[in-house]
Amino acid sequence: MHIHYPAPGIEHEIPVRSGVAFNLRAGETLTVIDPLGCQVSDLLAFSAADTREYISSGRTLDYASRIFLTVPDPLYSNRSNILLRITADTVRRHDFLLTPCSKDTFRIIYGDEAPHRGCFGNFVEALAPYGIEEDAIPVAFNCFMNVVVDGQTGELRVDPPLSKAGDYISFVAETDLVVGLTACSALQSNGGSFKPIRYRVQQQEGAVERAE
Ligand SMILES: [Zn+2]
Repeated sequence: MHIHYPAPGIEHEIPVRSGVAFNLRAGETLTVIDPLGCQVSDLLAFSAADTREYISSGRTLDYASRIFLTVPDPLYSNRSNILLRITADTVRRHDFLLTPCSKDTFRIIYGDEAPHRGCFGNFVEALAPYGIEEDAIPVAFNCFMNVVVDGQTGELRVDPPLSKAGDYISFVAETDLVVGLTACSALQSNGGSFKPIRYRVQQQEGAVERAE
């Protein structure tokens, strides 16, 4: 099994329209930062012990009885275990309904003839070393994505993110995880321009420093 722990305590940058994957230990906190504002970051998490277990939009929204999640909401897996909990959130508007943007999103919704591979394609490449295949990629937790829902008709509209420069959301891992994280590639989701995303991992209080 491929293992990669990001150096703790420092900010790592995900370039415009790209994505990364890394390991997160139980007890560690992942903070996803929007450095310039108005930029979405799709987040996936799989159990490191068995990557057939992954965050589940359906179970999480069912158990929360809400579609907008914030502190201290848990993100449940397809096996109803808690994989992550939201521990800090300066934006309080994120999406857990919509699929990662993909070449098919751009073909079907935008009519692009030579579409970008999107967050989905970026996840496929970043997660391949972990043995996670394309068909195993679920709905992502879309940090800062602003999906407005008409309560009567259920109609969805993707508005620009409410995040300002330096805004962030933090999650603590409840178990050892493989995480995928992107700087989203969909124009509509990001207020019409593509920006980078930053992230930081903080080790659990009292954890022994482990170098990789
Ligand atoms: Zn995207």
